[in-house]
Amino acid sequence: MSKKVLVLGGSFGGLTAALEVKRRLGAKVEVTVISKDDNFVFLPSLPWLVTGQRQAAALTIPISAILTARHIHFVHGTAMAIDPTAQRVTTASSGHDYDYLVIATGPHLACEEIPGLGPDQGHTHCIFTLGHARKSREAWQKLLASPGPLVLGSTQKASCFGPYYELAFELDHQLRKRRMRHKVPITYLTSEPYLGHMGIDGLGTSRRFMEDEFARRDIKAVVNQGVQAVEPDKIQLTDQNSLPFQLALLAPPFKGVDGVAALGNDRGFITVDEYYRHRQHANIYAVGVAVAMAPRQPTPVPTGVPKTGYMTVQMAQSAAFNIAADINNSEPLATEDISILCLLDMGGTGTLMHADPLLPPRQKSVLRKGRWVPWAKAGLERYLLWKMRHGLSRLP
Ligand SMILES: Cc1cc2nc3c(=O)[nH]c(=O)nc-3n(C[C@H](O)[C@H](O)[C@H](O)COP(=O)(O)OP(=O)(O)OC[C@H]3O[C@@H](n4cnc5c(N)ncnc54)[C@H](O)[C@@H]3O)c2cc1C
Repeated sequence: MSKKVLVLGGSFGGLTAALEVKRRLGAKVEVTVISKDDNFVFLPSLPWLVTGQRQAAALTIPISAILTARHIHFVHGTAMAIDPTAQRVTTASSGHDYDYLVIATGPHLACEEIPGLGPDQGHTHCIFTLGHARKSREAWQKLLASPGPLVLGSTQKASCFGPYYELAFELDHQLRKRRMRHKVPITYLTSEPYLGHMGIDGLGTSRRFMEDEFARRDIKAVVNQGVQAVEPDKIQLTDQNSLPFQLALLAPPFKGVDGVAALGNDRGFITVDEYYRHRQHANIYAVGVAVAMAPRQPTPVPTGVPKTGYMTVQMAQSAAFNIAADINNSEPLATEDISILCLLDMGGTGTLMHADPLLPPRQKSVLRKGRWVPWAKAGLERYLLWKMRHGLSRLP
């Protein structure tokens, strides 16, 4: 009888895991994906949606179209609870039994932890979902029409820094193109202890690199700082100072999502072993942002380790390999270290960043600036969207 593999989440982690399990096991498994969103959204290009270089339709693929062609079931719904003993996940309208479960539900954006934060009930914007990026685009257009101070960066406990560096450089570039940079003071506000830390203790010369780039572009940095509250026109910092803004784009604190948090640590992230298996429940796997990952050294203002798309795909492939090994009674494969590869658009130029492994000490750290980077990023976007559209799960 075929085994039931249930996957929660329809993004890089969930779709890669589902496609790869099916590719490896074919008719031996019945794979179902449950996802709160019914579209796959190519999140790395959302900064380009804010600047108007991309439209939403170009970054979006219906999940059912990806999965149906590969004989994988799709349920558009939100996992509300997991019962690891009964091996069952419940959504608002149905229950789903599993033999193996993969959790790839990404982050809960915990705006509620900071009064006044967030695009839904607060005064700040962010770019973690298509909806949020669209609102950010509208707010950016308003700023262009009526210029004033721009603040961007990350709050305490955020674990995603790259996109906000990217936005700082891109928006600076857009303002200069319009000859209005002098009307918009830019401040990069962050919980990182220094510029270029990025939640991974820096990467090669990233500290000096970012400090020089910020100085060259006249972007003010406020580092090692938490946010206490946000008022309609100013951010109250934990050191009692405040920052005025007309537009603020801030990454909120991250937590695990509600439906899976009960299986996780105190922030709701899932602690896994070297096979990406839950430490207490061997038939539950977790990949991507849902995974608990401790920084090498805690930072004075708490920051989280980022889990990038590239890392997420590596984790999902490992989890799929190990599910297949378990079903085939073969040896699982431990993942000791994971690496990152990022292309950061800086408006007219960019930087390639590669860290292997993710956290120091490292075998390899590469940071290379060049005008070719935005082109390479656009090429990678096209390739990865093509791959997802065709249900291909392997990394090159
Ligand atoms: C603006 C931006 C730019 C980025 N740029 C880069 C980059 O250049 N390079 C890079 O490598 N990475 C980049 N990343 C990071 C990358 O996008 C993430 O690492 C990746 O999306 C993580 O994938 P995931 O599957 O773990 O989670 P997510 O992408 O967050 O997806 C979570 C999925 O789970 C679903 N879900 C949530 N809750 C539930 C529930 N209860 N039940 C069912 N489904 C649920 C959601 O609908 C979604 O489908 C960027 C991220 C952002 C936001």
